[in-house]
Amino acid sequence: MSSEHAENAGPEHIEPEGAAAEAPGSAAGSTGAEPAALPADAADAASDEAPAPAGDEPADGPAEVWDVVVVGAGPAGASAAYAAAVAGRRVLLLEKSELPRYKTCGGGIIGPSRDTLPPGFELPLQDRVHAVTFSLDGRFARTRRSRRMLFGLINRPEFDAQLVEHAQKAGAELRTGATVTRVEQHGPAVPDRRTVAVVLADGETVLARAVVGADGSASRIGAHVGVKLGQVDLGLEAEIPVPPSVAEDWKGRVLIDWGPMPGSYGWVFPKGDTLTVGVISARGEGAATKRYMEDFVARLGLAGFEPTISSGHLTRCRTDDSPLSRGRVLVCGDAAGLLEPWTREGISYALRSGRLAGEWAVRVAESNDAVDARRQALNYAFAIKAGLGVEMAVGRRMLAIFERRPGLLHATITGLRPAWNAFADITRGSATLGGMVRSNGMARRALELLDKRMDTSSGVGPAGRGVSARDRAASEPEGEQAPEEV
Ligand SMILES: Cc1cc2nc3c(=O)[nH]c(=O)nc-3n(C[C@H](O)[C@H](O)[C@H](O)COP(=O)(O)OP(=O)(O)OC[C@H]3O[C@@H](n4cnc5c(N)ncnc54)[C@H](O)[C@@H]3O)c2cc1C
Repeated sequence: MSSEHAENAGPEHIEPEGAAAEAPGSAAGSTGAEPAALPADAADAASDEAPAPAGDEPADGPAEVWDVVVVGAGPAGASAAYAAAVAGRRVLLLEKSELPRYKTCGGGIIGPSRDTLPPGFELPLQDRVHAVTFSLDGRFARTRRSRRMLFGLINRPEFDAQLVEHAQKAGAELRTGATVTRVEQHGPAVPDRRTVAVVLADGETVLARAVVGADGSASRIGAHVGVKLGQVDLGLEAEIPVPPSVAEDWKGRVLIDWGPMPGSYGWVFPKGDTLTVGVISARGEGAATKRYMEDFVARLGLAGFEPTISSGHLTRCRTDDSPLSRGRVLVCGDAAGLLEPWTREGISYALRSGRLAGEWAVRVAESNDAVDARRQALNYAFAIKAGLGVEMAVGRRMLAIFERRPGLLHATITGLRPAWNAFADITRGSATLGGMVRSNGMARRALELLDKRMDTSSGVGPAGRGVSARDRAASEPEGEQAPEEV
């Protein structure tokens, strides 16, 4: 990378056709993860990055090219923009909304989220959770407490805006009110084989050496990459202001209610004078999910308080073999379907995958040919699969058990101290579900036993579930512009 690339002054100017091939080699070879050479993929990559016709420079002079363009300024996008900007690259962060913007989310910040924040980032915590009340569709409530904080609670508008500020301080440029409609890696809008065209709703085209798609669960960039989804859920949530006496009752304590539909659950997350109350269940059961939300709010005695916001949002989990890149475009966070399948915790997935996407996008941007760009993109996919991919696989097994045996899970977590300790360790970030299953013989045997019990009790194991509303929803045909807010 040449020295002018280390400045964040603004976009560079595109090199004349042919210069790319003569540019010095990238720093890619010095990176940590080193996959084997990929001749078969190289053929794909070459077709993904076909050379543009010669003499395509616009009449009004060379177009500007950013090193990295990030689409979407949620936790994934802000993290990616930060990572690429601290590496000294010219980064443009495009966001369709004005910031701060509301996002339907409980705002639970577990240890791995906290551990991935940029240095100096102070979490705008609304509450610190020291106790969890678990119930089984409103019954058998039991509260477990911890002297040490389990996890934190934030408001997303504030948290996300703060993350974006950190990316800006690192040198990234932010443009709000910029809706991306598509990216192109071939065709007249693409001046050469090293460049991606990012097309905005007003017709403007922005050029980049690498693009990171972080545009959430209805991602257009995900559609371009061909992200495949194995699980789609609908979350409903209300922000309910409550009087001080009610707020005091919830301070430092959350409620998790295992719900009436398979795989569903509800939560109360206190944030000072407001309670964030929500439920989540497989898409395709909209009426039942709405009824669960209404019953849940009523039995908590909160029906008399008017919510300031009531909203819904889909969450989507990728299949194991879903792509994470195409050509010079990487996807991360919800856009890639990276989400914990059981709890649908996604902030830590967004922060962790966003950081990796930003780091690897830098190397994709440095790549002078399609084969090297492809190699760097596959390095990113490798890093995701080795970390979050393993976590997701365990999460899927947990969800499969939970869908069929919520009572067993409730009894285990409320009645067995090692299970509660495991829950506490995971939320604090001192352990991961995947790590526990890998290194703790007892956890592994318990999970295997539960897998077996499901095989015998339902005739369907975790890898081969019956056709539930979730499976039907995941296989429903979906247009590129599936509604994000519902
Ligand atoms: C009801 C509910 C509760 C949840 N609770 C929790 C929780 O407590 N803890 C947790 O960890 N996770 C939770 N999640 C999951 C979490 O909200 C997501 O996983 C997380 O927001 C993903 O971050 P992201 O940056 O990938 O996407 P997002 O946060 O969705 O950000 C995407 C950004 O891209 C922008 N954008 C979209 N399209 C375009 C476009 N075409 N052009 C430009 N910009 C665009 C959007 O405006 C948005 O700012 C919850 C989800 C739901 C639905």
